Amino acid sequence: MGTVNFYDFNMSALEQFFVTRGEKKFRAQQMFQWVYARGITDPEQMTNLSKAFRAEIPQLFSFDLPQTIKHLSSVDGTQKFLFDMGDNMSVESVLIPSGDRNTLCVSSEVGCNLACKFCFTGKQKLLKRLSVSQIMGQFLQVKQACPDQPITNIVFMGMGEPLDNPEAVFASIEILNNTWGLNLSRKKITVSTSGLVDKIPLVSKSGARLAVSLNGSNDRVRSDVMPINKKWNIKALLDACLEHYRATNDKITFEYVLLAGVTDSLDHARELYHLTKNVPCKLNIIPFNEHPDSGYQRPKDSAIDRFQHELIRLGAHVLRRKTMGRDIFAACGQLNSTANKHPQLETLSQ
Ligand code: SAH
Ligand code: SF4
Repeated sequence: MGTVNFYDFNMSALEQFFVTRGEKKFRAQQMFQWVYARGITDPEQMTNLSKAFRAEIPQLFSFDLPQTIKHLSSVDGTQKFLFDMGDNMSVESVLIPSGDRNTLCVSSEVGCNLACKFCFTGKQKLLKRLSVSQIMGQFLQVKQACPDQPITNIVFMGMGEPLDNPEAVFASIEILNNTWGLNLSRKKITVSTSGLVDKIPLVSKSGARLAVSLNGSNDRVRSDVMPINKKWNIKALLDACLEHYRATNDKITFEYVLLAGVTDSLDHARELYHLTKNVPCKLNIIPFNEHPDSGYQRPKDSAIDRFQHELIRLGAHVLRRKTMGRDIFAACGQLNSTANKHPQLETLSQ
């Protein structure tokens, strides 16, 4: 039998793996401690394991991580990584420092089938759902590359729709959270979805925080920019959000991309307020980040301010997402695995 990638296993899968091989179940905890808590993958250093078991490890597991193809740093401290996912595919991850927080934005898919009109990733059809080890690999590679910036928060807001790849995403969350290993609080992990309503209960069950890309203040606008709205409209989505709140007591984050002339009027701001006022939430407004041939424009700063102030005046809890990493094409919605061919990046990577 060949080896399997260690990083594909959450705790219960690893226990199962050992049990079916006649090994003790607690080997899984011991391995999590060595590999995730202490960062050791060399069996010789795993001193509390029997010699016989240590000798077996290389036959059972590989500890391969996705190769880093590019690592770029922005003037604002944001760092972007391009990782090889095999078969000529790649994904991006972005590390965003802010005060004493370092948030890692990870990808869950290569491309995305949801085809939101304003999104660079959505221009690329779904090519691959990442495996658990390919998601964990992004975290572990960045952790290794940036030892002075411990990752405090993880957001599934990179390339792809996490709820279109739920098995791998939720297994990764379990690994990140497991107390024998990385022990990252579930509350520091956020899953952002375009609104796959039937999968939102999985987020509630996982204990992670929920972010929802609303991006339209009525069904007409939202269906225009996000085709998924034709399957699950705003009412269905908000009902699922309320259900999530009832189950977890966690506030929801609504992301709202400001597109000039499409979603940024004062009427839209008022509609957005009335839509969300009965859902315990905060609003995160994201000025559109431009990318080639999108057909949309970022509103002027004055229009962005006006939109935000109207929501504040009405009493909403609203934050404007700071645009980070724009110079390295790492801002929200600018990730695409063909982006390494973007001329801007070519220049910056030299
Ligand atoms: N698929 C998930 C997560 C990835 S997208 C989702 O849609 O929620 C992460 C966020 O970036 C979403 O809120 C999306 O609306 C936003 N976004 C996409 N393209 C953007 C762009 N060009 N400018 C600003 N935000 C964008
Ligand atoms: Fe996919 Fe999210 Fe982009 Fe929509 S915004 S195309 S769901 S990655």
